[in-house]
Amino acid sequence: MNSVVWTLVFALALAASLGLRAWLASRQVRHVAQHRDAVPAPFRDTVDLVAHHRAADYTLARIRLGQWQMAFGAITLLGWTLFGGLDLLNATLLDAVLPRWGGIAYGVALFAAVLAIEGLLHLPLDLYATFGIEARFGFNRMTWRLWIADAFKGVLLAVVIGGPLVALVLWIMAASGPLWWLWAWVAWAAFNLIALVLVPTLIAPLFNRFEPLRDASLEARVRALMARAGFAAKGLFVMDGSRRSAHGNAYFTGFGAARRVVFFDTLLARLAPEEVEAVLAHELGHFKLGHIVRRIGVMLFAALLLFAAFGYLAGQSWFYTGLGVRPGLVGPNDAVALLLLVLVAPVFGSFISPLFAGLSRRHEFEADAWAARHADGRALASALLKLHEDNASTLTPDPVYARFYYSHPPAVERLAALSPRPVP
Ligand SMILES: [Zn+2]
Repeated sequence: MNSVVWTLVFALALAASLGLRAWLASRQVRHVAQHRDAVPAPFRDTVDLVAHHRAADYTLARIRLGQWQMAFGAITLLGWTLFGGLDLLNATLLDAVLPRWGGIAYGVALFAAVLAIEGLLHLPLDLYATFGIEARFGFNRMTWRLWIADAFKGVLLAVVIGGPLVALVLWIMAASGPLWWLWAWVAWAAFNLIALVLVPTLIAPLFNRFEPLRDASLEARVRALMARAGFAAKGLFVMDGSRRSAHGNAYFTGFGAARRVVFFDTLLARLAPEEVEAVLAHELGHFKLGHIVRRIGVMLFAALLLFAAFGYLAGQSWFYTGLGVRPGLVGPNDAVALLLLVLVAPVFGSFISPLFAGLSRRHEFEADAWAARHADGRALASALLKLHEDNASTLTPDPVYARFYYSHPPAVERLAALSPRPVP
């Protein structure tokens, strides 16, 4: 391929991705606004109009913000690539860092500089999301103090963990011959598997407090459920999610000895004991049905394809020039290649992300069905409805939008699947 063709391919993919996402967002806006004034029939008795309005308004506000973020992201992407931002930064660091500190230090510095600039550029919109929209709808519990502490910890983790990881990948790229992309993938995969153990046990506790579930009657219920499901009775935690937000949630994470189910305190405060049990059963369903292992497998396989493509692209000069960067003739180009991949891959990835969302929705249905077999399906249904209401999630998403983006099926579909079949 020559570089002009590659520029065109990239520009067309970006335009198509923006067009597609803008079209989906406009569908969602129209659909939610059209259904704002009436609670859908299946929920007439359980959801009041005030909550329904709030969910519609919150959904619309988030989508509008998403539009701004999308437009701004496209502008910064073009700024880095075709308008020469990365090229300029690269030339500067090649002069300043490479001669004195060597290729890997230069590569890590380039990564750090790009990530820092990206973070600062997106800061205003991020702050508006938390202190504007989330606050307006009564969700934000974050103080400025906590926000600054979080940001500080985030930067520290990026330096302590991200820095060595980038250095390792760059070293592999430089040192391991024609199959470097395969070894880089192995390192990346190993890092992700280690992270699955370290994130829940060491990193998440830097940001939140995790305590074992301590309500005696609830614990008895939970133990009984775990015994019925043949699940080792450990790793059940309550997290102080209320420190940052009023949104409620529950999730599973980790694997092996580090696997655990985490309940947000905000969720526990709202659910009756049988509903907590049902939500836990749903999360155990994910474990028991092998969703976690399969999800990891899919992620690693997708990454392998990406690294293989990268192995080819990094050796083509049109890959660089077509994206606005002059490859160095003397210095290493590995860091630039890796950065271009990180910047550009999401543009092409946006066309296949619905596949992953679809897989995730199928897993949700399966976990719901599993929960209904091992706990009370009706309690799960009422818990899901409370979750929707508390998070102001819309009950009337556009079907096409939901198919494209939603990792969880729309409430109408989930509740319909959970409700007992009418007896003929
Ligand atoms: Zn789930």
